[in-house]
Order: sequence, then C-alpha cells, then structure tokens
Amino acid sequence: MSVNVHINSPNVKYTDTHIVSQYPYQTTSVHRDGNKVTVTPRTTEMTFSTERHVPQLGVMLVGWGGNNGTTVTAAVLANKRGLTWRTKTGVKKANYFGSLLQASTVCLGSGPEGEVNVPIRDLLPMVHPNDIVFDGWDISSMDLGSAMERAEVLDWSLQEQLRPHMSRMKPRPSIYIPDFIAANQESRADNVLTGSMAEQVALRGIRADIRDFRRSSGVDKVIVLWTANTERFCDLTPGVNDKAENLLAAIQDGADVSPSTLFAVASILEGCAYINGSPQNTFVPGAIELAVQKGVFIGGDDFKSGQTKIKSVLVDFLVSSGIKPTSIVSYNHLGNNDGRNLSAPQQFRSKEISKSNVVDDMVQSNSVLYQPGEKPDHCVVIKYVPCVGDSKRAMDEYTSEIMMGGTNTIALHNTCEDSLLATPIMLDLVILTELCQRVTVRPQGEEDFMSFHSVLALLSFLCKAPLVPSGTPVINSFFRQRTCIENILRACLGLPPQNHMLLEHKLQ
Ligand code: NAD
Repeated sequence: MSVNVHINSPNVKYTDTHIVSQYPYQTTSVHRDGNKVTVTPRTTEMTFSTERHVPQLGVMLVGWGGNNGTTVTAAVLANKRGLTWRTKTGVKKANYFGSLLQASTVCLGSGPEGEVNVPIRDLLPMVHPNDIVFDGWDISSMDLGSAMERAEVLDWSLQEQLRPHMSRMKPRPSIYIPDFIAANQESRADNVLTGSMAEQVALRGIRADIRDFRRSSGVDKVIVLWTANTERFCDLTPGVNDKAENLLAAIQDGADVSPSTLFAVASILEGCAYINGSPQNTFVPGAIELAVQKGVFIGGDDFKSGQTKIKSVLVDFLVSSGIKPTSIVSYNHLGNNDGRNLSAPQQFRSKEISKSNVVDDMVQSNSVLYQPGEKPDHCVVIKYVPCVGDSKRAMDEYTSEIMMGGTNTIALHNTCEDSLLATPIMLDLVILTELCQRVTVRPQGEEDFMSFHSVLALLSFLCKAPLVPSGTPVINSFFRQRTCIENILRACLGLPPQNHMLLEHKLQ
C-alpha cells in the first residue's frame, strides 16, 4: 500500500504538473594553511522542480536471456500478478526485497504516534516496477521461459506459473564480436547481428530496435541497461574513442569498438539513458562526450550487489571508527554463466579492476590512519565452480591494526543467489534514472533550470565502480552514497538533510 506524502511548507508548491521547492543548499569552503584550517559556511538558495507525471517506462535489456535478464523479468511479472508458490519451507509471495526504493524507508520525523518512516518510493512520484515493460537483445535465441529454466534461479513451482507468459518473449538478435567476451560463450551465440555485418549497420539495427519497441509497446520512455556478459577492457586510442566525433567515425570505419559501446552509442543517439551493469570500460571518453553533447544520462559501472556492497559498509565502519584495515582478501566461487565467462583471464581482469578501488575514498579520508599513498593490501579471486550455479559464495578476510599494535581479523562467509541480489538493483537503477529525468534545479542567480550532469553520479550507491563526471569525487562509502540519494530526494520536497541529531530528545 502506498503512502501519500504531502509537505506543509511555504517553501513547497504543488502545481498540477510540478512539485517546486525552495531549498537552502548549505556547504562549506575550506582553506588550509599549514596547520590552520579555516572553514566558511555558505548557503546557496536553490529551486528544485520535479515533474509529477509518471511516464510509462520501457526497459530494454542487453543480455535479456541471461540470469539477471530472465530473473528481473520474471520477478516483475510475479509481483504484478501477486503470485505465491509453495516451497519445502512454506508458501512464498512475490516481493521486492533488496530494492532501495521499494523495500527501504526514510524517516520523515516524529508525530504524536512516534517516528514516521515511509518507503523511499513514496517520497516523490516514481515509476512502479510492476508497470515497467521489458524487451531486449541476447546473442542466445532461447525464449525467456526456457532461459529462466536454464538460469536455475527461481523455484520450480514459480517457474511453472510464469512459463506461459515468459515463453512468449524472445530476445532480439544482438551484436556479437567474439573477441570481447570469453571464448566459452560461443556455443550460445545463435542470435547475432554481426559477423558479416559492419558495425555501422549493426548500430543502425539497434537504433531501429529501440524505435520499434517504443512504437509497438506504446511506452513513453525507454532506458537501455547492459546486463550481458562482462567484456574485456578495450584500449583507449587517440583518434578512435577519445572524442565523440572520432568514435562515430571509428564505428563507420569498423574499428575496434566493443558491443557494449555500440549499444551505448545507439542508445544515446536515440535519446535513451544507458546504464552499464558490468565492469568493462564501455564509457570510453568519446561515448561520455556524446552523452554530454546529447544531454542523455549514462550510469554505471557494474551492479554493486554482494561482496563489494559489504566491503563498502565494512571498511566505512572500520575507518570511521578509527580502526586501520591493512589487508582485505576476497575470494568468490560461482557456477552460473557469468562465472563461466569470468573464468577467462581478460574478462576476470575487468571484474578485478572494478572491485579494486572500492575502499579508496574511505582510506584517503583518514590521514590519522594512512600516510599519503598508503592503502590496505587488496586481493580479489574469482573461481568458476559449476555445481553451485547461481548460488555464489563469497569469503572475505579483513585484517586491521587496532590500538597499541593489536590485530583484529574479521572473516565473513556469504552464500546467496547472485541474480536475486542484482534484480532489485537493476530496478532501482532504471527507476532512479527515470526520476532524475524529471528533476531540474535552478541555483540562485541563474535564469534557467539545469538537469543533473549526463554522467549520473547519483547512481553510485548501486554501482561497484561509480562513474562520475570527470574531475569530481568518486564516493564508494555505502552510507555517504545512500545519504546522498535520500537528501536529494528530500531537497526536491524542500526538506532539510537528514541530520540524526534528535536534539529534541537530548536537552534537559
Ligand atoms: P549471464 O551470463 O547469465 O547473462 C548474460 C547474457 O548476456 C547471456 O544470456 C548472454 O548470452 C548474453 N550476451 C553476451 N554478450 C551479449 C551481447 N553482445 N549482446 C546481447 N547479449 C549478450 O550473466 P548474469 O549473471 O545475468 O550477469 C550479467 C552481467 O551482470 C555480468 O557481466 C555480470 O558480471 C554482471 N553483474 C552481475 C551481478 C550479480 O549479482 N548477478 C553483479 C554485478 C555485475
């Protein structure tokens, strides 16, 4: 059941079309001179405007027939139909656990009945996941019903209920350039555009697919999400992918452009936001420049679902408690097709890079514990073990230096279905991106309202290796990322940032 949040303030106006809030944005400017640090508080008056009309959203998944693609489609269908199913531990009901927007709450304050918490989804008008229409591409031609069975994620009795609906869905043929994903994927590539087809022809095909989906489904907006296999990194080559113009020319000339970058370019040219759920460097500088030129949102990289999410919590906890992590060793094994693809060295390397920088901002924030340039040892191992399927195992050992030369070692063992962690994140990514398309901000003194930057850093909470506008800080810390989302949504309603001071309960 949804809650209707209404703000009772002279700073907030509800028009038929918009929620408009006046918001004092408070920051500080800091000057450091040797040991002396001078901090000057600043306030900039801002006007936030949020369009109230929620459009019908279409999401096109690249890798629709994979574990994540089938699971997200099945989960939305099951929720929409309110399905229940029996397992050996009782009756289960479809839900959206694991979704920041659908299943976590924010505190709005206190009333006579005590603290009032509401789901984030009820703060502002947002797309409901049940209303998303899915389509997509896969290099495997298997229909979604059979692909769901191949994925081995959902309980069988749920699959039986979903199968008649899922089997009607068929992925569109996709761009397959064998060099970019592991050789062990070749056997499923029976639904491909490329091969004999030139890159610019494939690009035109993808653009035509997006237009066809928009037309045939009647959706108002389309967002494209890459949830296909992890690709190898591609070289950054001046004259090829360094500028938008060069990237478009390189595609024309059939140069070394990855399928994921081709999808990004197609999506941007169609005016559709594009999100990268895998670790590879899809967003070469030319693709980022193209998105900025066209004013289209891009976001990524790599869903932050399990081990890395814990890392961004645990290291935040340790460093912010004044404890010094000195070594983090992360070991995984998994047996799904993602694990199979990652068993190839170049694709593993993409994942290793994506997982490696996650503690940097927390370490750099504490010069009491770390000297400049000093970091904990950080090692990531991934092994393919077919027997465990989608039920990924993650084992981590965190060693920290505590007071007076003492050592604290924390060992964690985590087992869970990988795709059931990724699915709610995929939904949050597209729903938050769509909401951001309806928010504009006018800082004091400016004539025009501005959108968020095309590189949508607000998605950082959901990504292992957050993509941010060039020269701006990368935030990995779980709590800072979540607070950022919560406070920006509150700003849209003219509410002050959550400060947790509870002074009203602390004075005598
Ligand atoms: P999967 O192997 O089950 O699915 C990937 C699908 O992509 C396959 O069906 C494959 O046929 C298809 N594919 C490959 N290349 C393609 C192309 N060029 N065009 C269209 N389709 C293509 O993998 P998954 O478990 O669904 O994971 C998908 C991606 O998400 C992987 O890159 C994985 O690393 C990433 N990821 C997953 C999680 C998680 O928790 N599940 C977390 C972070 C990142």
